[in-house]
Amino acid sequence: MPIYQAPVRDTLFVIRDVLNYQRYDNLAGFADASPDILEAILGEGAKLAENVLHPLNRVGDEEGCKRHDDGSVTVPKGFHEAYKQYCEGGWMGLSAPEEFGGQNLPYLLHSAVGEYFSSANMALMMYPGLTQGAIAAIITHGTDEQKQKWLPRMIEGTWTGTMNLTEPHCGTDLGLLRSKAVPTGNGSYKISGQKIFISAGEHDMSENIVHLVLARIEGAPEGVKGISLFIVPKYKVDDAGTVGEANGVSCGSLEEKMGIHGNSTCVMNYDEAEGFLIGAENGGLKAMFTMMNEARLGVGLQGLSIGEAAYQNAVAYARERLQGRSLTGAKEPEKKADPIIVHPDIRRKLMTMRAINESGRALLLWTALQSDIAHRSDDENARQIADDLLALMTPVVKGVLTDKGFDIAVMAQQVFGGHGYIEEHGMSQFVRDARIAMIYEGANGIQALDLVGRKLALNGGRAVQAFFKEVGDFCEENRSDENMAPYTKSLKKGLNDLQAATMWLMQNAMQKPDNAGAASYDYMHLFGLVALGYMWGRMVKTAQAQLAAGEGDKDMLEQKLVVGRFYMERIMPESAAHLARISSGSDTMMGLAAEAF
Ligand SMILES: Cc1cc2nc3c(=O)[nH]c(=O)nc-3n(C[C@H](O)[C@H](O)[C@H](O)COP(=O)(O)OP(=O)(O)OC[C@H]3O[C@@H](n4cnc5c(N)ncnc54)[C@H](O)[C@@H]3O)c2cc1C
Repeated sequence: MPIYQAPVRDTLFVIRDVLNYQRYDNLAGFADASPDILEAILGEGAKLAENVLHPLNRVGDEEGCKRHDDGSVTVPKGFHEAYKQYCEGGWMGLSAPEEFGGQNLPYLLHSAVGEYFSSANMALMMYPGLTQGAIAAIITHGTDEQKQKWLPRMIEGTWTGTMNLTEPHCGTDLGLLRSKAVPTGNGSYKISGQKIFISAGEHDMSENIVHLVLARIEGAPEGVKGISLFIVPKYKVDDAGTVGEANGVSCGSLEEKMGIHGNSTCVMNYDEAEGFLIGAENGGLKAMFTMMNEARLGVGLQGLSIGEAAYQNAVAYARERLQGRSLTGAKEPEKKADPIIVHPDIRRKLMTMRAINESGRALLLWTALQSDIAHRSDDENARQIADDLLALMTPVVKGVLTDKGFDIAVMAQQVFGGHGYIEEHGMSQFVRDARIAMIYEGANGIQALDLVGRKLALNGGRAVQAFFKEVGDFCEENRSDENMAPYTKSLKKGLNDLQAATMWLMQNAMQKPDNAGAASYDYMHLFGLVALGYMWGRMVKTAQAQLAAGEGDKDMLEQKLVVGRFYMERIMPESAAHLARISSGSDTMMGLAAEAF
């Protein structure tokens, strides 16, 4: 049985000490999250994750969801009770507006505990995860009436939500979408079509399911310009909010899949189902993007979550598995062999995992803080800067943290040797579960294109310039500090490579778009390397200051200095390889005719 312990101490270090979140107590909700409250919430979240959600992770994987002949779907045993506890604890609406029953606490906090929940049970947490995305879309684009009708029940968790984009012939390219919406004349629409791969599309944990469905209103323009978004409930709801007869929505089948077995992935059939337009006619993609952006950060968080859980198990195994002797002489001579944690190659893996996880957590929380500032600040300038950084970082967090999460799961599995490949230790589940995060919510190749094709040039490159300045200033401010030099030197080199890559793109991608496409994946990872390195810089700086002042947890702070140094020595130098690949252009990549493959 895998182990899991929520890294509360590390989260506190990032939120309280590195991000110094109390600086933002002028933002709505922040003053309510005093340090005591913060600690209490993280502690309660940790308990729910460790004691309730985590023990069901294996059950969910083994049992999976079942579809019955009447089209109903049941979730694995124990999920109902755990979901109930999650809702009763108010976790669904932690950062949602108070007027609809939420607690209006910072999204930063929601993200912090979200990591624990997802580490403990990613498949189960997708039911509330999709609901939270749907809540965000209704808050941003719904009418007052729609908000009153749908949000309170979703925020209390009585009704869950889904997002329905994908169709059999239409994945990344939503312009191909065929589901149709016919106006009935009474303000509603009849929605028909088939959606596939719909997470949490049907299940028996909630009274109702609120599907957000992309469809094309009859006569709408072709392509993405003719897509609208609709609320389509599983059961119709009257004006008083009472759940009534079944709508024309059914689950045709459940997908058999590689991982996240505890989450139902459904083929959903819409047969003249009653639906209500949300947002503007033909403005569906914009409305759905609200949901997708939130979901993309949530998926990045899944990468981090699995990485952390896998790492913890690898450490425990490496401490107890006895094989071989240390290269520098027996460390536990009374035993027949040393634990494998003495071997440098095992350390390479453990240190890599830890260096990515700890900076990944900081990056995720820093990005969540930008979201809070962007949505809650009264200062227009602060809002704009934060919104720029949020938009820029969303594809990086999604693409890089999920790729790394999968790599870490594989690395942790490797620490277990053959025991990692068999199911008993649970490492295979981490690998299988982590894999999907690289694919859904826009496959990672699409995240890279979003970064290079859209986010870099947005507002004349304002966001990327602001990020470069922030990292550059950090290096400059610490240049003469000899304790910081080993860190800032490496970070500056990474930043130089990233700036050189950006310049190369500016000079070579406009006239030859394949150069942008060919560079995009490396560019996204190069960006991620620098962003994670910047997080290490800030963590190390904070740790050094606390150590000098005799504050904080000395052990943890000293460990930060070592792990941060490992990142700078062993991981950051990958920036040079990315730059070399980026600047090699697209000629060779595109050099063979399609028939030559
Ligand atoms: C378990 C699971 C759960 C899911 N949950 C949901 C859900 O809840 N709601 C929902 O709507 N969908 C969901 N999806 C669908 C998921 O979001 C899509 O699978 C994903 O967006 C990719 O679409 P596709 O599978 O059709 O691949 P395609 O679009 O066919 O892409 C295939 C490959 O080509 C690449 N590619 C495509 N276009 C380009 C391009 N222009 N340039 C470069 N590369 C390109 C892609 O990156 C990908 O690697 C889920 C999928 C799975 C497997």
